[in-house]
Amino acid sequence: MCPKKGRSIGHPRPFLEYHRFCTSARSFVHLAETKATMSVFEIRLDDHASSKRKARRRSASVPDASEPVPENQPARLADDELDPALRPKRLEDFIGQPQVTELLSVAIEAAKQRGEPLDHLLFYGPPGLGKTTIAQIVANEMGVAYHAISAPAIEKPGDLVAALTTLQYGDVLFIDEIHRLKPIVEEFLYPAMEDGRIDIRVEEGPRAHTVSLPVNRFTLIGATTRLGMLTAPLRARFGLVCRLDFYSPEDLTTILCRNANLLGIDLTSDAALELARRARGTPRIANRLLRRARDYATVRGNGVIDLEAVREAMAIVGVDEHGLTESDRSYLRALLDLYDGGPVGLKTLAAALNEDPQTLEDAVEPFLIQLGLIERTPRGRRATSAAESWFAEDPA
Ligand code: ADP
Repeated sequence: MCPKKGRSIGHPRPFLEYHRFCTSARSFVHLAETKATMSVFEIRLDDHASSKRKARRRSASVPDASEPVPENQPARLADDELDPALRPKRLEDFIGQPQVTELLSVAIEAAKQRGEPLDHLLFYGPPGLGKTTIAQIVANEMGVAYHAISAPAIEKPGDLVAALTTLQYGDVLFIDEIHRLKPIVEEFLYPAMEDGRIDIRVEEGPRAHTVSLPVNRFTLIGATTRLGMLTAPLRARFGLVCRLDFYSPEDLTTILCRNANLLGIDLTSDAALELARRARGTPRIANRLLRRARDYATVRGNGVIDLEAVREAMAIVGVDEHGLTESDRSYLRALLDLYDGGPVGLKTLAAALNEDPQTLEDAVEPFLIQLGLIERTPRGRRATSAAESWFAEDPA
């Protein structure tokens, strides 16, 4: 969660609104005894008292996209802190994905002219292609606050109540990995998305009834690596569904040059293209490889990242000229050697590799499919003839 100043989850405003709502219903004391209401209070108290939940929320939140990055800051940041500094802040700085940016710029302009919140958006595609970045850009362009939460962190509807009652009119609520929302939480979200209200179930048994709590209209931005796992009703509630594709080496070169400038790194243009070719069409990987090349150039070279520095640095980290890593090679080796090229089920393959099936599916397979080295078939994963000849040429 990334609240604007004075809009934290523990801020009294939503609490007072809720109190007023309950009082006007003349059922505050009664409601306070119910499970539903307790869960609202629990969230607020927990947010102050439980460092465990705080840590989980913090890990799920992303810094405010509108926060300016101090000019002298990036060079001093540690590796894992670099990404926020490198995220483009405006649509015009977002490189590549022209169809998505065009669609968004029209939708944003139209929403601004009407003075309305932007329609709910869904972004899907493999990790690292810019789903979070573009969600932050949307908030920036709309001039609204950006709040982020990861679906697995929403354990019960009450967790969502806390997030939804914090939102101001038009704010962006970003839910990462939205395909992992629990069904009960998902159903709770529908009236908030459509009618600006949440329905809280009160009491159990014959006295059970529902009370509605109004929430401000907002823009939900969902991100998923697995569109197919989204339920049809949830998917239907998004006004715009955008797919992010792998980036071309040219676009990645532009991103790398921009980031090298931001970080004050000397990067030659042929070295940038070489890094881009090895980055699996993914900006996050391009940024990571840039850091490894920078480390190499600092320690073993003269600080300048040239073609030779890139090749040597990539040899050390085990990324070949196609961008394949040791994980890809192990995957292909297992598929070809252990299962004779397949087809073999994902779980079996994952067990043989001692890997998580979801990691294979989300992070390893999309690029191998893109290179035409494997296929997903109804009977399992299969190596293509291209994989066999590729492996015969380069069995390392
Ligand atoms: P995702 O949410 O899809 O996993 P992110 O939005 O976190 O991906 O992007 C990962 C990193 O890649 C970001 O920190 C950002 O620096 C970079 N990035 C992604 N897309 C772009 C882009 N189009 N232009 C420049 N940098 C980008």
